[in-house]
Amino acid sequence: MSGSDADAVGLSVRAAEKRDAGRGVARIPERARRELGVLSGDTVVIEGEKTTVAKMWPADPSVPETAIQIDGDTRANAGVHVGDTVAVRPKDTSTIQEARRVTLSPPPSITDGERQVAERDAAKKLRNRPVRAGEQIRIEGVSQNPFTVVDTTPGGDVRISSTTTVRIVGPDARASAAGDGSREASSGASSESAEGDSVSAEGTTGPTYEDIGGLDEELEQVREMIELPLSEPELFRRLGVEPPSGVLLYGPPGTGKTLIARAVANEVDASFETISGPEIMSKYKGESEEQLREVFERARENAPTIIFFDEIDSIAGARGDDEGAENRIVGQLLTLMDGLDARGEVIVIGATNRVDAIDPALRRGGRFDREIQIGVPDETGRREILEVHTRGMPLADDVSVDTIARRTHGFVGADLDAVASEAAMAAIRERPADADDREEWNRDPKVTRAHFDTALASVEPSA
Ligand code: ADP
Repeated sequence: MSGSDADAVGLSVRAAEKRDAGRGVARIPERARRELGVLSGDTVVIEGEKTTVAKMWPADPSVPETAIQIDGDTRANAGVHVGDTVAVRPKDTSTIQEARRVTLSPPPSITDGERQVAERDAAKKLRNRPVRAGEQIRIEGVSQNPFTVVDTTPGGDVRISSTTTVRIVGPDARASAAGDGSREASSGASSESAEGDSVSAEGTTGPTYEDIGGLDEELEQVREMIELPLSEPELFRRLGVEPPSGVLLYGPPGTGKTLIARAVANEVDASFETISGPEIMSKYKGESEEQLREVFERARENAPTIIFFDEIDSIAGARGDDEGAENRIVGQLLTLMDGLDARGEVIVIGATNRVDAIDPALRRGGRFDREIQIGVPDETGRREILEVHTRGMPLADDVSVDTIARRTHGFVGADLDAVASEAAMAAIRERPADADDREEWNRDPKVTRAHFDTALASVEPSA
């Protein structure tokens, strides 16, 4: 009989392979698999702050033996972040009952069309998925955003089968039914709360590492410099190393600098503040400094915090005139950054496409003294980015993401995002005119290769 603690294996959480995002899969290395005595497709219990279940699949041999790869939803369901340790146990499947009924509440962004597809296909697409109330799950081909499991019959861990009735309820139901099960939307809370509605504190998550394509090495560096100090400040203190207070991401626009900053904030549950260089430059005398002080003050109050300073070169261009606004603002920023205590709980990420245009004083010791280049993606990177942006899309069989990646030399992430949305728009524009046909199409929409050709003709590469 499995399920006792003696069977548990401790594994360190890593982000999922991009292809696994939204699938409820846990990839586990061979040694741990043998220790657990599970086979591909078996259910495992993952215990962090919370407990969840996932289907086990083998990890690539290049993954360390002590790691487990799970996606953002599963991490949220287990109440863990990348780098945390979870206890993994085999789930005695005889204790998982088939669900008679599962009630899901859709993401707030859902369209009527997506809802119809969800109602029709959810049971099929989620077949064999272990779930429990309070968790978030994504339905492939329906929406990029997660649904929340509001209720199951019977309760506890259940598996969706071909006979399960999956009901999609109005978003209103989630506020009362979802309980405390879901993680708060943390990152971007300050900027996104403006849209504020009753569901903003539920399973809505910001971008996760799986939403970033083609920047694995860069992301690894970012994580080492930012995620570690923010998530384990004590470790830095004990080892007597100074965590960085500033990191510079440089590279052309649209390559994912903002995305990375938001994802790290989201993954470590840090708050997120943004400052736009051009915007701060446009303030009246004195106002910009005041605003900078306020942002840093808020950052300290809500620590851990990532302050994202976009187009930082615009405050730190040509020097000379001592009375110049640039010098005043740079001076204020230097003071604020030097004043950050060495506990690493506030980190400033500066973004620029002109690293040489940054005031040298800003790049010296203790300020933005680490730099990471975020370049234009190569073919592999483009393929990964396209995979991210077509993940929730019903693609026709004739669409080859590989071919599109090959044909899009010079396209950055933002361009590829535009290609995917343009293709979807083309599909909508070219829907059948006849009302019945259109209704049928709406129920089962497809984005075809021709739609991508239309999109490729309209999006220009930035690089
Ligand atoms: P930057 O800050 O470098 O100017 P952003 O991070 O704002 O670029 O990118 C804009 C949008 O383009 C993102 O929200 C995302 O949709 C898409 N994008 C950019 N880079 C990537 C990437 N590497 N992977 C996936 N999407 C990307």
